[in-house]
Amino acid sequence: AGTGKFFVGGNWKCNGTKDSISKLVADLNGGKMESDVDVVVAPPFVYIDQVKNSLTDRIEISAQNCWVGKGGAFTGEISAEQLIDMGCQWVILGHSERRHIIGEADKFIGKKAAYALSQNLKVIACIGEKLEEREAGKTFDVCFQQMKAFADSITSWEDVVIAYEPVWAIGTGKVATPEQAQEVHGAVRDWLKKNISEEVASSTRIIYGGSVNGSNCSELAKQEDIDGFLVGGASLKGPEFGTIVNSVT
Ligand code: PEP
Repeated sequence: AGTGKFFVGGNWKCNGTKDSISKLVADLNGGKMESDVDVVVAPPFVYIDQVKNSLTDRIEISAQNCWVGKGGAFTGEISAEQLIDMGCQWVILGHSERRHIIGEADKFIGKKAAYALSQNLKVIACIGEKLEEREAGKTFDVCFQQMKAFADSITSWEDVVIAYEPVWAIGTGKVATPEQAQEVHGAVRDWLKKNISEEVASSTRIIYGGSVNGSNCSELAKQEDIDGFLVGGASLKGPEFGTIVNSVT
């Protein structure tokens, strides 16, 4: 782990029912979590209120997406203002499922980040390459291009956590090796140093996501530039999520 406070986010994606979420919340409320870790969970929009009303304050709440600007005539969208109103502190933006299944573009995601930050919503900004991009030696190019789109819109990095999530590792069971993850995390930190500032490079947390589980988290957490995790599948199991939170070194 790096010098920033360890950060572990659970992305529940489009999963859960009132009942299953009530059980998951009970497990999270009852679990023991190291105190020096920021812990955040991201339920589906429709369950945010239920989670907010039942989950311990120890864990903060994130949305999985939000609208690019002020709310209004945007059928089906949820605004940053509404998320704040519901008690969310965070929003995940640029998740690969939104980039590659829904088709959100780099620039649009950058604008979303700037607007969310302007409303005092903190941002988990996701980046990551597809398998064919890695195989073509384009991993850094892709990640830096996605970083640039965030940087073109964001003016302050104080409330931003960067999540490096190689697309080939998300939901596939194929976790990046600690060396593969460290290589990209180090490169992203260098990018921040060169393109933003030394201060932002050292204070911004860069977390890893992609098939993290209770068994592989400790080795990843030892890497110098891995400041935590964004967890999908394993965050739906309270005890396992607790193990990942407690992998802080
Ligand atoms: C994610 O959705 O951000 C993620 C990393 O998923 P998983 O842990 O299931 O690979």
